[in-house]
Amino acid sequence: MIYDNFGRPVLNLRISVTQRCNLNCPYCHREGETPSSTGSFKREMTTEEIIQLTKIAVGLGISKAKLTGGEPLLRKDILQIVEGMANLQGLKDLSMTTNGVHLGFLAKDLKQKGLIRVNISFPSLDAKTYRNLMDGELREVLKGVKTAVDVGLHPVKLNMLILKGINDNEIEKMLSFAEHSGTILQLIELEPVNISQDYYEQHHFNLDATQKQLKEQALEVRTRKNMQNRKVYFLPKTKVEIVKPIENTQFCRRCTRLRMTSDGKLKPCLMRNDNLVDILGPLRNGANDKELESLFIEACKRRKPYWNSN
Ligand code: SAM
Repeated sequence: MIYDNFGRPVLNLRISVTQRCNLNCPYCHREGETPSSTGSFKREMTTEEIIQLTKIAVGLGISKAKLTGGEPLLRKDILQIVEGMANLQGLKDLSMTTNGVHLGFLAKDLKQKGLIRVNISFPSLDAKTYRNLMDGELREVLKGVKTAVDVGLHPVKLNMLILKGINDNEIEKMLSFAEHSGTILQLIELEPVNISQDYYEQHHFNLDATQKQLKEQALEVRTRKNMQNRKVYFLPKTKVEIVKPIENTQFCRRCTRLRMTSDGKLKPCLMRNDNLVDILGPLRNGANDKELESLFIEACKRRKPYWNSN
């Protein structure tokens, strides 16, 4: 197991496999990647590079990996990536976050290649709101959700980013949808990354009141200690998870994540781009596994709680 200088174990690797996307969400943080922070969007890791680097991370005790982007399902080799990663001894949890548009026809193969579960971005059940917000078609993501549930990519989590004035009136409706579709609802607060301050101020929705209501309805409330102290509310027919990072010292205190950008840089924190560690460059220049391992260790050393009371 690898720990950072703040005693936090590093257990999760969040890998961005591309910056390309088929939707156009104005709120998207793009996992904190910008062309200026990482050089260019043109350099993408190959299938083999992603698998080799994940293997090194797993060797250091990282046992969970999530594929993200951009839209991971735009990679033509996504099935090979999933298969190669799923075959790594020691990787216990392999998941993906996707907009779900291509899940209708890919979910079955992804499951067969070894993907365990998915998170699907799902901010609205209203076709017009969905189209205005994402530039996409609701029926496609509905099909993706259904197929993911049917093939057993379990659990399917619906990532509902709450935006003031856009979808904050849809939480009840989405809860009911989660109950009926056999999914878990994840309510996410907007983070001020790769968006303008104006957009953030206009649309950031504080989930405190929602949490209070959920607490009253819940049969049980649990805290995911190794997952940023997130709260999970067990309702009679479904679960609701809250992602509330802003100015939340508890969130950072129990952060166990390391990120890898689509162009092969280790990224210790979503919020920062001044402490990246290039690993793809050295890999392409012939670095051996020990040298690559030391780059992972360096990135872990650079981890620092962003919201920190001390
Ligand atoms: N295209 C994929 C998708 O839609 O899931 C992967 C990339 S997207 C950046 C990954 C997750 O980040 C989604 O669940 C999305 O809701 C969330 N997200 C995007 N922008 C965000 C922001 N500014 N604040 C908080 N979460 C955000």
